[in-house]
Amino acid sequence: MTNAAGRGELIRTLVIEDNELDAGLALRALTRAGMAIESVVVEDEAGLRAALITFVPDIVLCDFSFPGFDGFAALRIVHETYPDVPLIFVSGAISEERAALALQSGAVDYVMKSSLIRLPIAVERAVGAARLAARRADRARWQVKRLERLWRVATDPLLRGDDIVPAILQQAAVDVGGDDAFRAFLVRSAGTGTTVVACASGAGSLPVGRTEAAALQALVDTSRDGTNRTRSWGDTTASAGAPGALAVAGWRAVITSQFAAGGDNYELAFASNEPVELFSDHDLDYMNVLVSSLAHQIQVNALEISLRDEEERARVHAQRLEASWQIVNDARIKDVDKWLRLLNQAADSISPEQGYRGTFWRLEGENMICEAVGESAKHGLRSDVIKIGAVLPIASSPVAVIIASAIATRSWDDIRASDPEITLAQASGTRACILTVFKAGGASWVLSLASGQPATKAIGPLDRSFVEVLASFFSSHVQQRWQFARIQYQQSHDALTGLLNRSHFRSQTRSLAAKGRTYAIALVDINAFHEINDSFGHVVGDTVIVEVSSALAGQAQPGEVVGRIGSDVFAIYIPDPPSADDVMERVRGFAGVFRRMFATGARNKEVISCTASIGAAVAQGDGSTFETIFSRADAALAIAKERGISEIVAYEPGMEREAQRRALLRSDLAAAIAGNQFELYFQPHVELGTGRVTGCEALIRWHHPQRGLIFPDQFIPFAEQTGMITEIDTWVLNEAIATATTLSAKRPDFRLYFNLSGRQAGDSAIVRAFIKAARAGVPLRNIGVEITETDAMRSVRATGRVCRALRKLGVHVAIDDFGVGYSSLSSLKSLPFDVLKIDRSFVSGLMTDGHDAAIARTIISIADHFGFASVGEGAETPGEIEWLWKNGCRYVQGYGIARPMPIDAFTLWLANYKAKTPELRRARARRRIPVLRHELPI
Ligand code: C2E
Ligand code: MG
Ligand code: MG
Repeated sequence: MTNAAGRGELIRTLVIEDNELDAGLALRALTRAGMAIESVVVEDEAGLRAALITFVPDIVLCDFSFPGFDGFAALRIVHETYPDVPLIFVSGAISEERAALALQSGAVDYVMKSSLIRLPIAVERAVGAARLAARRADRARWQVKRLERLWRVATDPLLRGDDIVPAILQQAAVDVGGDDAFRAFLVRSAGTGTTVVACASGAGSLPVGRTEAAALQALVDTSRDGTNRTRSWGDTTASAGAPGALAVAGWRAVITSQFAAGGDNYELAFASNEPVELFSDHDLDYMNVLVSSLAHQIQVNALEISLRDEEERARVHAQRLEASWQIVNDARIKDVDKWLRLLNQAADSISPEQGYRGTFWRLEGENMICEAVGESAKHGLRSDVIKIGAVLPIASSPVAVIIASAIATRSWDDIRASDPEITLAQASGTRACILTVFKAGGASWVLSLASGQPATKAIGPLDRSFVEVLASFFSSHVQQRWQFARIQYQQSHDALTGLLNRSHFRSQTRSLAAKGRTYAIALVDINAFHEINDSFGHVVGDTVIVEVSSALAGQAQPGEVVGRIGSDVFAIYIPDPPSADDVMERVRGFAGVFRRMFATGARNKEVISCTASIGAAVAQGDGSTFETIFSRADAALAIAKERGISEIVAYEPGMEREAQRRALLRSDLAAAIAGNQFELYFQPHVELGTGRVTGCEALIRWHHPQRGLIFPDQFIPFAEQTGMITEIDTWVLNEAIATATTLSAKRPDFRLYFNLSGRQAGDSAIVRAFIKAARAGVPLRNIGVEITETDAMRSVRATGRVCRALRKLGVHVAIDDFGVGYSSLSSLKSLPFDVLKIDRSFVSGLMTDGHDAAIARTIISIADHFGFASVGEGAETPGEIEWLWKNGCRYVQGYGIARPMPIDAFTLWLANYKAKTPELRRARARRRIPVLRHELPI
């Protein structure tokens, strides 16, 4: 028969029976049923108490009634000592009520003495049940104990956060199976990878074998259903559901739980090489407690780490800011060095474990230009790509993305080639970077910190703010430099053309000259620029200056410097010319600029031409100072201007004196204009046929305070070149008109001629001036103007226009110095004149040079032919006067009649003048009658 209490297992039986026979019968019933019995029999209370001290029964068989003692009392006494030992009443006679009472009081069964046959079964059941209960109680106590141990480890104040998880595992490895047979593993899976976080046996941590790693991976792979779940196999070889890898690793018994903590998934697994009976509910509970305890611990650890991290980051951030400020405020570090130091420092401190490279870029159009680079070791980026001055297309950099998103600062922990946001060739191999874009000094800039490795630690807001702080330094530095450069630029450059201004051209080229052996200075002066200003206005004048300056600058070769040193004067510095010929070659190159037309900026796209005079001087290394070379070029320029249109003059010794003279003349002339130092002298015109004075020519004189009387030849050409003539012209016009008005009051036929300057000849301003005079009552028929043949021929059409207008007004026009200006007869035909004045050079040669006489005769006949009156100019002797008369010249002007005189003397001369014909003069001369002083005041 089966024995629930265990076959052959000794059953210690305490029999409480006062009847020895009955006791024997009961025991025999048990042994007869094949049970192994060790028994003690007591017959009263005292015996019972004594027996319980030495004997621990598995079962108590108790009679119900004794003298002075009963079954209930016995039950009480037994349970006082052994509450879990089952007691069966074995009674001769028992009422039903007492039987029920007996069972209620704690007895497990009752058997009648009359049917002892039932006793073995009752005993067997009672002992079995008691032993099972005892085992259960043991298990529960064990569960409590192992949970208590777990709790102790988890809350051990001596363990640091990182050590708690391995310690829990180590304890659990022992407790899960109740011996050292189990090994414990904790595996974390993040993304696609798994890591064994800890593994332990009861003896401590242990290495994970290859097959074990595969077994763990199999567990992770098969438990990915997202919910916390515990699975177990008592014998992996016998269980169909166990992954094969478990048995391969030699694992027979496995219990595993999957849980999530701190954002990752974990697999907790225990494995033993021995199979076990099925894991109990206690084990499952234990696993649950373990899992929640580990999850809690992992979370606490993660929190701790992140707090610790945050503190650490804040500390590191403060340190790196401090380091940056020290560099910024270090007055010993200059400019770009400061940039490099800052970038180096930033590259080191963004992530000390990982190498970075700091670069500072200026954005220009489609490109970015590297202004500074600083790097830490191990940045892992391609080094050949980025150096100072490197140019990259913006589109090939993450900068393009940040600009497009219009966010100042961005960071990428891991840029991949497949990143949809950044579809670009990673020229430098950037994987992690922080970028900030800002504007300063009129440009856009980028500060970039980049690494060739993905960020080992996520780039956080503190990192970005560090880069922004750095950028703010760069920004203010760039702004300062820019403002400084702008001020310097404004001080050194001409605002209109952007070329160096006078003082900076001089200082810059002076220091260049100090370094070089030879050099040349060329000065370029636009001819008659004031005329462009006068006739087109200053806006056009400015446009032309800008055009010319950019043309000259465009002509300059590397090393040559172009500056604007006066309103229409440019200077060019030519370094190291191999020879003086090379200098002239270069200068001709610059002069070539004036062959083109220049835009006026006018809406009708009008263009004008202009010419320039150029003076050049070469420093030959003869010790001449820079100032000397400069003033030599200036002197050569003055000569070039004097020589006329488009001259290039190379300096020759002596030119400075001439230039000085001109400079002095310029200032004296300015003083003369301002101080009214001019006077008109008058020289009469006499009609040869009648001897009558018909008019006069007004000739200007300058009373120089030191040099005395100065004749027009000495200052009129200069005034014309310098533009100072305009004021002189106005003065002459007014003075001549006033005198003509006075003189004509008494002599209605008298005509006063005055000389027009070259620029007046073709300018209708003179016409307007006469119209104005006419309106003021000036008798214009008493006025004539003289235009030299050379001036008239310069622009026949313009002169013709002015002359026609003047003649309409009644003003006579004389063509002066005729015969030297090479006019063609056809142009004479188209010019409407009244008078033709034979140049003095022919008249003075009349008596001695047959050619002069022939020319004079021709001129007279031309005048007759065209209907002009002829005037012989500069006739000094009676012979010359007579020749003119005889050859049909109508008028004469010359010392032979009278020298030019101031107005008072002239008025007196007129009053005393008696008309004499040439014949009369000749007769007098023959009779040696002295000529009256007032008649011929030579
Ligand atoms: P021009 O218009 O041909 O004037 C005649 C010049 O011949 C005058 O010289 C006059 O003094 C000089 N002359 C007259 N008769 C004789 C003579 O018998 N012998 C010699 N040797 N010379 C004689 P001046 O006054 O020195 O003027 C020189 C030139 O200066 C003028 O030549 C004229 O072209 C210019 N000029 C004079 N006054 C003015 C003026 O008010 N305005 C302008 N724009 N030019 C003037
Ligand atoms: Mg004249
Ligand atoms: Mg003349």
